[in-house]
Amino acid sequence: MRLEIDGWSSKITFSATHIIPGHFKCGRLHGHDYAINASIEGSIGPEGVIMDFISVKEFLRKVAAELDHKVLIPLRDEAVKEEGGSVRYTPSGKIYMFPSEDCALLDVGVASAEELARFVLQRVREKVHFPDNVKRVEIGVDEGEGQGAWIGCDL
Ligand SMILES: [Zn+2]
Repeated sequence: MRLEIDGWSSKITFSATHIIPGHFKCGRLHGHDYAINASIEGSIGPEGVIMDFISVKEFLRKVAAELDHKVLIPLRDEAVKEEGGSVRYTPSGKIYMFPSEDCALLDVGVASAEELARFVLQRVREKVHFPDNVKRVEIGVDEGEGQGAWIGCDL
C-alpha cells in the first residue's frame, strides 16, 4: 500500500531561480515554482495506517522553506566559488555574482529537478524516522505543475 503527498495541494512549494549550464534556454538565469511530492510504501501498521505522514509533510515544508526565494547553487560544479560573502558562479564562461545569503548552496552537480529530488531524498533519509513497516520512499520535485523528476529508495 502507498501513501502519497501532493506538494501543490499540501503547500509544500517554493520559488527559486537556477541555471542549467549549456542549455540553449535554461542556461540563462530564470525561475520556477516548485513543489515537493512524496510517496511512502509499506504495509499497514498496528494503528491501521502506514505511518503518520504529518511529520514527513512538516519536514518537507522545512526543506522547501530553505530553498524558497533563493538562487539554487550547485556546489559540486567547479564553476562555483565562494569568496568573501559572495558566490561567484561562472557557468559556460558567463560571470554571475550573488550574495551568499541569497543562495541555497546545494551538494549537487546541477540545480536540475532531478538533482533536487536526489538532494531532498537524501535529507529525508537522514532526518525522517520511518517505522519498520515502511519499505520504500520516493520523492518527486515538480518544476512547474505537471512536470517533475522522481527518485526513490528502499528502506
Ligand atoms: Zn529551469
